[in-house]
Amino acid sequence: MTDAIENRQFRLVRRPKGMPQRHDFELATETLGEARDGEVRVAIEYISLDPAMRGWMNAGKSYIKPVGLGEVMRAGAAGKVIDSKHPDFAAGDPVSGNFGVQTHAVVPGDELRKVDTALADLPVYLGALGMPGMTAYFGTLEVGALAEGDVVLVSAASGAVGALVGQIAKKKGASRVVGLAGGPEKCAYVVDQLGFDAVIDYKAEEINDAVRRECPDGIDVYFDNVGGEILDAALANLRLHARVVICGAISQYNVTGNVGDTAYAPQNYLSLLINRARMEGFIVFDFADRYPQAAREMADWLAAGDLKHREDIVEGFDTFPETLLKLFTGGNFGKLVLAVED
Ligand code: NAP
Repeated sequence: MTDAIENRQFRLVRRPKGMPQRHDFELATETLGEARDGEVRVAIEYISLDPAMRGWMNAGKSYIKPVGLGEVMRAGAAGKVIDSKHPDFAAGDPVSGNFGVQTHAVVPGDELRKVDTALADLPVYLGALGMPGMTAYFGTLEVGALAEGDVVLVSAASGAVGALVGQIAKKKGASRVVGLAGGPEKCAYVVDQLGFDAVIDYKAEEINDAVRRECPDGIDVYFDNVGGEILDAALANLRLHARVVICGAISQYNVTGNVGDTAYAPQNYLSLLINRARMEGFIVFDFADRYPQAAREMADWLAAGDLKHREDIVEGFDTFPETLLKLFTGGNFGKLVLAVED
């Protein structure tokens, strides 16, 4: 019998309008129950902060049920097993799963994934070797149908997904990979560390002119993480049979719908017709049955020192509401992770 464990958790109590605020959440404390048969108790060490969390706070139909009011905010996370009533797990095992924004969790063992901390530290399993890695892999190779010699443009190129998209595209034969990022520091990282061929500082340049300059013969694959004007600039520069991968549209996630703050409607969609191009959205979960194959290839690249990754780890569980906002202001530099430190 283990001593009672105090579990702290952020519950969603209000649906945000625009940027989420602290008062949209309640920081609550409960006593963690014992694990029942088939369950595992986990001490959470790192919580993944993802742009998608903003969508999960909204009511209405989506690809996944919204987080209910009063429920623990949904999140991927990683930590160590405290005790287990599942045959596959033992105390001390490093694991990842959908544990939520809380310091501890009791979860069915079947929903847990054991991770190898000899290969990479726990936070990497929330980034390059986790959901963002799978997103970059399948978004580029399957939805983007990357082919040898392609010219690839990627937005949010220094971020968790974008940084991997460019590297995967280069490995799989793209002839030119161009990123978009905000500010000189991120731009330097994209070219010097990640090995992109060129980068556009979309905060400092006229985007249309810059895309035309860097992709003079047009784009075969545009991997869109941001939507808005950047998507429009990419559409205006497509090549014949181009693929536009709609991975996300972070510039639109906090639009309030009020006068002067409405969703950006792409102007240049007829470029799809002219170029017989395809624009397709996807959700990474659609590829879940193929994660093991992709994870193995990503892990091999990582073990060979051939896959750059960067985590932006912010300490302090209590800072969750403010830390999350970094994603929407460009304040994060790499995969944003909250260290629980309990
Ligand atoms: P991230 O790129 O690590 O962080 C978000 C970045 O977006 C910020 O650092 C910022 O970079 C950029 N950004 C924020 N607001 C912007 C704006 N108004 N205009 C242009 N850029 C802006 O985040 P991530 O986890 O890798 O996610 C990237 C995208 O992938 C998101 O849209 C997310 O929703 C999507 N996603 C989709 C799936 C799926 O299954 N479809 C799965 C995972 C992620 P700069 O400083 O460079 O502007």
